[in-house]
Amino acid sequence: MSSPAPAAAPVLLWFRADLRLGDHPGVDWAARSGGAVIPVFIHDERSGTRPPGAASRWWLDKSLKSLDQDLQSRGSRLIVRAGDTLAHLETLIAETGAKAVICSDPHDPALSPLHARIEARLSALKVQLRVFNTTLVHQPGSVRTGSDTPYKVYSPFARALRAQLVWPDSIPAPKRLNAPDTWPQSLAIQDLGFHPTRPDWSGGFSIWQPGEAGALARLEAFCQSDLAQYKDHRDRADLDITSRLSPHLRYGEVSPWTVLRAALEAARQGRATDAAADKLISEVYWREFAYNLLHIHPALSSEPFKPEYAAFPWQPDADALEAWCRGRTGYSFVDAGMRQLWVSGWMHNRVRMVVASVLVKHLLIPWQDGEAWFWDTLVDACPANNPASWQWVAGCGADAAPYFRIFNPITQGQKFDPEGRYIRQWVPELKPLKTSDIHDPSSLSLFQRSGVGDYPAPLIACDAGRDRALRALESLKAAS
Ligand code: FAD
Repeated sequence: MSSPAPAAAPVLLWFRADLRLGDHPGVDWAARSGGAVIPVFIHDERSGTRPPGAASRWWLDKSLKSLDQDLQSRGSRLIVRAGDTLAHLETLIAETGAKAVICSDPHDPALSPLHARIEARLSALKVQLRVFNTTLVHQPGSVRTGSDTPYKVYSPFARALRAQLVWPDSIPAPKRLNAPDTWPQSLAIQDLGFHPTRPDWSGGFSIWQPGEAGALARLEAFCQSDLAQYKDHRDRADLDITSRLSPHLRYGEVSPWTVLRAALEAARQGRATDAAADKLISEVYWREFAYNLLHIHPALSSEPFKPEYAAFPWQPDADALEAWCRGRTGYSFVDAGMRQLWVSGWMHNRVRMVVASVLVKHLLIPWQDGEAWFWDTLVDACPANNPASWQWVAGCGADAAPYFRIFNPITQGQKFDPEGRYIRQWVPELKPLKTSDIHDPSSLSLFQRSGVGDYPAPLIACDAGRDRALRALESLKAAS
């Protein structure tokens, strides 16, 4: 008679930026292993990557609570630890007898040294490490040109990506996860101190619903209504019809595959055109492209992709930077964006491009300063999208807008907020102005301006800023 099969060994399910249960191959693997599953999140400020900024910490606090609730409804819970990742994994392995650690690839080169140490240690302990790609549709570096190099230009990258994608089936969230006999010790999520106190500045963040349920609800609402207009109106700041899925994607609360499938399904059901679905998909591929760039150039947040830009004659200016951060540049469209960011942790993509352009071109402030402010204040602050986009605007990225293409912040506002509704929402002191004046309050006489409180004059006149930026570019060219 054969002896009964030994009970399956416990599994550590290590969550990182993949805070969901559905359409998650790692969660599925753990659930199917048959062993007890110990879900864990470790906050490690010294892991090698940038610690999350304040807005991201706010988001993580809620997202982790949501994940914990979802786990509890499946007979499980989230174990939370803070400190050295490897030390905690080792302790948890010893405490639980786990024979496998399941995690998602964070696709962050800054974490590679930590990963190598984890791999070596788990191998010595004879514990299996299984790493899944749960947050991107491709493995960065795997989409390659005919000469076997990664792409540095978006359009051919996206074409090649589309051609090589193998669409996986969607994976339902498990109904139950086996619990261990005893749970290891855990911090309470609030002990991580991610929610701001003294002061709690997060009142304006109540528009968000972090977590998997919030992500899926957002995706459903977007596909039901705004996707139909997405292709034609996504650049309109006042219409606000983009998906706002960015923080949900950033924290892996929804799989990019789920987003792509939902868009195609909406088109199939006639709720949006094929072109609209395709446009959304191409934006999601920009995110894939950004991770591809981070893979090629791990110093993306600090060093220009085009090395010659290291010698660019930036003019750091703490006062101008502060005015930009606070939404007091005197350019109403820019100030609306910067205040939207401060209050709600998010900014419309078109406005992000314009505020970034004003900082690096009109004000000649290093793009790294703007990137750092966004890192701290965006709920979707992303190690790939944020620096890649900043480098794109600054002209020093792989596939960048040329430096000499300089957005005019006044005409951009007139074009993408034609009635001035976005400006009135975020810069209330300008509400009294007529639509014809609201994009350029500096053109008004002192008397006309008297109704707009202490709204400032532009930090630099539009044409003067543009000319100065072009001269800076010329001097870079002359020096190289
Ligand atoms: P949608 O238009 O609905 O797009 C759907 C998804 O596609 C987004 O959620 C996002 O994941 C992806 N996407 C859309 N546009 C881009 C883009 N240009 N590049 C890469 N991915 C894109 N995006 C971030 O997620 N995190 C950042 O930290 C970030 N920093 C940025 C900084 C600057 C200076 C600029 C110009 C752009 C930045 N973006 C960043 C890209 C873009 O602005 C946001 O992804 C988008 O505004 C999010 O809104 P949405 O979810 O409604 O986008």
